[in-house]
Amino acid sequence: MLRMYDSAIGSVVALEPREPGRFSMYVCGPTVYDLPHLGHGRFTLTWDVVRRWLVFSGLEVTYVSNVTDIDDNIIGRANREGRTEHDVAAQYEHEWWRAMATLDVLRPDEVPHATGYVDQMIATISELLASGNAYQIDDGVYLDVSTVDSYGLLAGQPLESLRAGERIDVNTQKRSPFDFVLWKAAKPDEPSWQAPFGAGRPGWHTECVVMSLALLGEDFDLHTGGQDLRFPHHENERAQAVALGRRFARHWVHNGWVVVEGVKMSKSLGNFTTLTDLLERADPRAYRLLLLRAHYRAPIEVTIETIGDAERALARLDAVIRRTEVELPDVSVPLVRGACRQLDAFADVADAFAERMDDDLDTPAAVALLFELATRANTAADDGDLPGARAAASALAALAGSVGLALRHGGGEVDEGALALARARDAARAGRDFAEADRLRDLLVASGYVVEDTPAGTKVRPA
Ligand SMILES: [Zn+2]
Repeated sequence: MLRMYDSAIGSVVALEPREPGRFSMYVCGPTVYDLPHLGHGRFTLTWDVVRRWLVFSGLEVTYVSNVTDIDDNIIGRANREGRTEHDVAAQYEHEWWRAMATLDVLRPDEVPHATGYVDQMIATISELLASGNAYQIDDGVYLDVSTVDSYGLLAGQPLESLRAGERIDVNTQKRSPFDFVLWKAAKPDEPSWQAPFGAGRPGWHTECVVMSLALLGEDFDLHTGGQDLRFPHHENERAQAVALGRRFARHWVHNGWVVVEGVKMSKSLGNFTTLTDLLERADPRAYRLLLLRAHYRAPIEVTIETIGDAERALARLDAVIRRTEVELPDVSVPLVRGACRQLDAFADVADAFAERMDDDLDTPAAVALLFELATRANTAADDGDLPGARAAASALAALAGSVGLALRHGGGEVDEGALALARARDAARAGRDFAEADRLRDLLVASGYVVEDTPAGTKVRPA
């Protein structure tokens, strides 16, 4: 069974499911008011890997991830641009799914939208008011955290230390600075819903607790998100469930930060500005491999250099596939180990891979085994043992596919990633950024392409 670091317990524990053989997980999804950023790419890839791994291991997984389609940022953008909130949310949700498809991130089984659950949120807030856990002031309804035992469990540090440097709270009616809003009273120029406690709209923390319990039921297996969601978002979701007397997530697991060369993301350094930007300029699979080569809880640098390293590593794996011309698994659906017959002859490697993965998702060690398989395939091919080479390459493709990494032949055709690099190179040349153009050419060459300059722009063909 997969063991991971549970933030509520403070140690690595087995994620034993509520029901044998079935696993339920809730992943806090995006607020759709802008293009997805690099941190979005990290969390969504991390939990896609976990989901795929659980399925590969033989579990039936229900994966729920929400879309926050009403919040201050969406309203702000709609007002600035003279559009409706719905229009803004629909545009950026479209961008979100486009990026997810490019990353080979599987669609969640359920995608609850906040605006679709307002009635349930109103019922929950009414319950919290009736039980005395919530109170109403001028600008909305708040949860009284002093009524919740163990508030601060997920923060992992004394609450008072979290207040250091905090700006003075302007709302003097709140009983405690940690009390948080469940319902924001209606303001002019903002969408609102009618409720027994006055017109308004729900707060973010209420959205996730209501939707996760509605779709997965009490005591669901895993609640996840980025490290930044531990406190206050997850703490506050949990506080509401405790106040309601409902059993909430059995386990909480969080992924680490994305670091981009210090503080500033500078365009002149050529760094990626958004996830969308990265996906246009690099092989989308490289981000997944970059993450797999790091531990999910460690901070990672996502830069031109680190993505470039991952692209070159990927080119080595693709080259094995091209050389052996093996059939590739379809990673648009999660793989199941029992159905991967190509692993039968490599059960020892597959077992070692599973042992690494199950040990707090030790993907760096698991990925090292992929490169060992690539070496075995190449050595066999060098020795003229084509069946041996093909067997090792097939096992490699299946294990890579178990974590959503799609290897490619690339032979005879130019894949989309390469075409995107060629277009990015033309754009760099048009902008007289020749260093970037050279870098992109080198990348294409490292990926096994011949690069030609023509009057119509960069042309690539497999080497
Ligand atoms: Zn959430």
